[in-house]
Amino acid sequence: MTVVDGRVDGVSQASPTSTTIDLGDVALIPAFVNAHTHLEFSELETPLGEPGNSLVDWIRLVVANRREQALGAASRAERVTAAVNRGLVESEQAGVAAIGEIATLPWEASTFPQSRVRCRLFYEQIGLPRTRVQQCLDGARQWLTDFVDSPLAVKSLSPHAPYTVHPELLAGLCELSKTMRIPLAMHLAESPEELLLLKNGTGPFKELLQELDAWDEQAMPRDSQPLDYLQMLARADRALVVHGNFLSAAELDYVAGCGRQMTIAYCPRTFHFFHDATYPLGEMLGRGIKVAIGTDSRASNPDLDMLAEMRFAARQHAEIAPSKILEMATRNGADALGYDDLGEIAVGKAASFHTVPIGMRCVDDPHVLLFEN
Ligand SMILES: [Zn+2]
Repeated sequence: MTVVDGRVDGVSQASPTSTTIDLGDVALIPAFVNAHTHLEFSELETPLGEPGNSLVDWIRLVVANRREQALGAASRAERVTAAVNRGLVESEQAGVAAIGEIATLPWEASTFPQSRVRCRLFYEQIGLPRTRVQQCLDGARQWLTDFVDSPLAVKSLSPHAPYTVHPELLAGLCELSKTMRIPLAMHLAESPEELLLLKNGTGPFKELLQELDAWDEQAMPRDSQPLDYLQMLARADRALVVHGNFLSAAELDYVAGCGRQMTIAYCPRTFHFFHDATYPLGEMLGRGIKVAIGTDSRASNPDLDMLAEMRFAARQHAEIAPSKILEMATRNGADALGYDDLGEIAVGKAASFHTVPIGMRCVDDPHVLLFEN
């Protein structure tokens, strides 16, 4: 393979003037694209809570953690900046070329911590009470106007989740996505408690939102379901459905029908942290749904290591071809985040690679060697 000016120029031939590098017994693969991160938690040494905690109880721990940090001498912006920096360094060391980062601060491209990792910044929008809708939309629109994309940081929006986003706010954000031609990322169908809230307007999420003074009894019509939100997200330019753990068969059919417009971000170890169940990866891939892989954050995962994430997924889903798992961690993430030059080793693409030491032996499918450790 030859590389010229940071791009792949040829994949088999070497020119007489080029420098050849022997990498040894390694697999050379495209650098990873981590589809879902919250780097503001990158300074946590261990996840918050215990495996098996409910999502609602875990969110209480996140809220408590933020309040605790607010008591320290450093400002929130200073703390988040330090954590994001640490997460970017960890990501780069793990062979990650780009991330889909949920941002809770209104970063400017110049103030966002810089590294060689490219960041699709999904600025998070939260507003369940109807009275918050216009204010949120105005803020999002202003940020999109103010933020000037750079080669390393590009703007997008994230309506957080059905339990924190009024349907009218989501509709407005989808419209902005369409107009600005930017992807949206939304947590959806993440827990059984979310489905209960959508259906009946009751349960642990209602209690949590009341505690936080963020509940609006009228916000979502009774008998709502993730499908209602998928139908709204289908109006966005592109949508990244984060988790999708508990989407029904009909909802998976709907996602499949959206084709390239919609991608699901699967966070294997975070799913396992919260749920003693099997992620419906086979059902998704069987329908032709585009699935990407994310590490999520260190608040629910021990590290930001994409290869560890892939190996975990390979162990959980022995029926899935290893090449599919590699595709999820590279090409599918690149496509979902809008990085056309990443995710593949091909002529014209960015020379952005990762090497994985592998045992050298003959196997029918060499992808298997990636997941042996
Ligand atoms: Zn998340």
